[in-house]
Amino acid sequence: MSINHPELAEKFATNVERMKWHDKALWFVRVKRDNQAKSLDEWEELRNTADKIKSHTLSHLDEYLEVFEKNAQARGIHVHWAKDAKEHNEIVLEILRAKSVKMIVKSKSMLTEECHLNPYLEKNGIEVVDTDLGERIVQLRHEPPSHIVLPAIHLKKEDVGTTFEKFLKTEKGNSDPTYLTRAARAHLREKFLGADAAMTGVNFAIAETGGIVVCTNEGNADLGAALPKLHIACMGIEKIIPRLKDLSIFTRLLARSATGQPVTTYTSHYHGPVEGGEMHIVIVDNGRSKILSQERYIKSLQCIRCGACLNTCPIYRRSGGYSYGYTIPGPIGSTLAPSRDLKKYYSLPFACSLCSSCSNVCPVKVDLAQQLYLKRQDVVDAGYLSPTKHNALKMATWLMCRPKLMDFAGFMARKMVPLLPRALVYSKFNLWGKNRELPPFPKNSFKELYKEKKGIQ
Ligand code: SF4
Repeated sequence: MSINHPELAEKFATNVERMKWHDKALWFVRVKRDNQAKSLDEWEELRNTADKIKSHTLSHLDEYLEVFEKNAQARGIHVHWAKDAKEHNEIVLEILRAKSVKMIVKSKSMLTEECHLNPYLEKNGIEVVDTDLGERIVQLRHEPPSHIVLPAIHLKKEDVGTTFEKFLKTEKGNSDPTYLTRAARAHLREKFLGADAAMTGVNFAIAETGGIVVCTNEGNADLGAALPKLHIACMGIEKIIPRLKDLSIFTRLLARSATGQPVTTYTSHYHGPVEGGEMHIVIVDNGRSKILSQERYIKSLQCIRCGACLNTCPIYRRSGGYSYGYTIPGPIGSTLAPSRDLKKYYSLPFACSLCSSCSNVCPVKVDLAQQLYLKRQDVVDAGYLSPTKHNALKMATWLMCRPKLMDFAGFMARKMVPLLPRALVYSKFNLWGKNRELPPFPKNSFKELYKEKKGIQ
């Protein structure tokens, strides 16, 4: 079934108050990001360098992955390769079964969300506890994350209060953030101490050293991976960076772009198992090679999942993460999802005003606006556009190719529309006018005003 973004967005926007604070909360993060970016004179230089490193790595990905595997194995890490989500989940289950694991603690990993690992493990009798606070909140509510960095951004503290009341037996009606945080900490501590294995995502995998780096603000990956004897890390093939010295470029960009912090509270390096333990790394393709083979979309693999493009996107901020129907929402999700399944996600590239704000904030210079524009063309070429939209665009193209007729149509619209009855102008055919008032029509066209200003006869 196809995802209908406008319909899902409408559902979110029905609650105007929620839509407004969602918009405001994300804009607050965007402003923090701007302040951090402005505080570094070398910000653009950092972005350019990150772009160069990533694009070089992607063009030599096979070589760097092999170097990484060799170096990781030399450190006693078991390396596995998974071609898709199914294989990834089976590998993880096999490792866990071999150690008779009953419960794992997991730090936030969008890749495991993408592979739907939690339900798969639970179906196979293994309890999975997400330990990032936001992630745990949505897990208790049986919801997926609605943002890649702020998974519970769509919820208010009152929602968290009622969730904890139900699942953690906190005081009725108490939604004090400190109280709730303490309750979550006590609950998670129990889980950390009782876990048989830990699972983490991977922010960066360093080919030169064969180790991985995980960035968190809560230290949950550290505690999880330090206590049990088994650590499994899952990464997409694009997470590779060549050298240790490249890492600082990305860590300086990541936190600033994600949450407006100078650096994440914990930047944890894992270069081998804990004493007497085992460490496994599962390297996953799951459709990434397909993107790698398409030159115009290859840059989407440079993404370091900072979430900045989501925070700045006027559509995401007002339509919420669930309206995208994909693990990764917002501008980056709108290009990644149709790369995976154009038919299912054909509406996502249109969830965009082409304002390019996403491209401007992206720390690794993913050309998001350009990709979304190209994706729209793919949708049209594949014939997935609705006949109404397709015909309307065809008519608009026809009209715009005839300047004289276009001038006349503009003239008539300026004269006639203000005289039409409201019920006709704001009919069901004017979707744009559903939530907005048309601005007053100007007396003259842009062309006339331009000529007048320039003194052109
Ligand atoms: S595309 Fe760029 S801005 Fe968006 S999440 Fe990825 S790195 Fe961040």
